[in-house]
Amino acid sequence: MILVSACLLGENCKYDGGNNETEEIRAIFDEEELVPVCPEKLGGLEIPRPPAEIQNGTGEEVLMNKAKVVNQDGVDLTEEFLAGARKTLEKSSANDCKLAIFKARSPSCGSEEIYDGEFSGETKEGVGVTTALLKRAGIRVFNEENLMKAKEAREEL
Ligand code: SF4
Repeated sequence: MILVSACLLGENCKYDGGNNETEEIRAIFDEEELVPVCPEKLGGLEIPRPPAEIQNGTGEEVLMNKAKVVNQDGVDLTEEFLAGARKTLEKSSANDCKLAIFKARSPSCGSEEIYDGEFSGETKEGVGVTTALLKRAGIRVFNEENLMKAKEAREEL
């Protein structure tokens, strides 16, 4: 089974109430093996909500209590993001997911880079909070911009 950011499958769970539907995911993978999940929703955040970014680090540093997730209004949402990450890992384990296809650059789901924490639109290298936790558990995380790599990984399982 493959864990997929719910917004990539068309669920309106994005911070602005929209989605990031990417039709190629359903075209490439079997619908039955896709497990939709939104870590921020699982963490108790509302839809819509102000955008949030990781300040002074990446998802890895958030797991180590060395960085925080803060929204555009300055509210510390680190606990909500950590709760969402833990619940996503539980869902992944319950469905025996070994791969994930997660939304690029999200503070939860980013897998190669994330926004820089200044709400500037710039990015920095690193992963989101949930991605960091899944990777610690040995789950390979891809994004909608490298679906062919995810397909290759799926075929190797
Ligand atoms: S937390 Fe992940 S699944 Fe949820 S809206 Fe953000 S990018 Fe999409």
